[in-house]
Amino acid sequence: LVAPIAQLLQGLTRVQGGLAALSRIREIEDLPAEETSPAGPGGTDRVQAAPVGVRFENVAFGYGGGRPPAHHEVSFAVPAGGVTALVGPSGAGKSTVFALLERFYERQGGEISVDGRDIRQWRPFELRAALGYVEQDAPVLDGTLRQNLVLAAPHASDEAIGRVLRLTRLEELVARLPAGLDSEVGHRGVTLSGGERQRVAIARALLRRPRLLLLDEATSQLDAVNELLLREVIAEVSSETTVLVIAHRLSTVAGADQIVVMEGGRVRATGTHADLLGTDDLYRELAATQFLAARPA
Ligand code: ATP
Repeated sequence: LVAPIAQLLQGLTRVQGGLAALSRIREIEDLPAEETSPAGPGGTDRVQAAPVGVRFENVAFGYGGGRPPAHHEVSFAVPAGGVTALVGPSGAGKSTVFALLERFYERQGGEISVDGRDIRQWRPFELRAALGYVEQDAPVLDGTLRQNLVLAAPHASDEAIGRVLRLTRLEELVARLPAGLDSEVGHRGVTLSGGERQRVAIARALLRRPRLLLLDEATSQLDAVNELLLREVIAEVSSETTVLVIAHRLSTVAGADQIVVMEGGRVRATGTHADLLGTDDLYRELAATQFLAARPA
């Protein structure tokens, strides 16, 4: 009987996932038309909303299909503003934190709140507007630098573009390019360095003025100059949006206000780089073997 019961349970998990997705589709369908996009002309130059805090409390979640749970009683708090880094070995559950925050999946236990409010109570468009996501090795597309920046904010003003270029230390690049912002960046941004491509992706996300920036750091090496620039950008950006970063770099964790160490779907420790070096064996090992340190420029 064990095999058929296991199959039945798997089937039920899939049905539950389907129902959750359906209820989200209904939620979106039910929105009044004027609520499907943020207010204001183009929605991009609206007054800055404050950074938000995030709280995971005893969150349980599994992807189903007989896989072990990806989160077991995950609890941590991210203060509004500042930088919180998520670290841990492969499969620890870091990306699942992002997937649950974005509501690609529904938690199965515990609570997740953003700005003190359960994420299930957020309107989908509101949550989308509040979150910015920069994926690992985020793509830069054929076209001009400007086209790449305004992908998700087509009505952004020159002033708003200038602001994010300043924040992401891209002004120098623009000054150097033959046609400035209207220069072609080549196929997949080949004319840009890895560090520049990453900062273009951050600038693109910032143009939407997120209240929480989810950043999955690129795993490619950066030279010392680009590494320093990235560290500066993350620190500066955190004054206007909360930054939650899946960190792969020593410079990022060293500069973070708080680090959450995950392992096997659990939070095993939180603290600063200095705290954790002193108290957590796994963290010490990650620092010695996994975090990328810049090569000399
Ligand atoms: P990495 O550093 O390798 O990206 P991670 O810490 O981000 O790892 P997660 O991607 O959150 O870890 O994965 C946690 C667990 O969930 C792993 O066992 C993984 O195989 C599983 N998992 C992640 N995404 C999915 C998915 N879309 N479908 C099924 N299982 C998944």
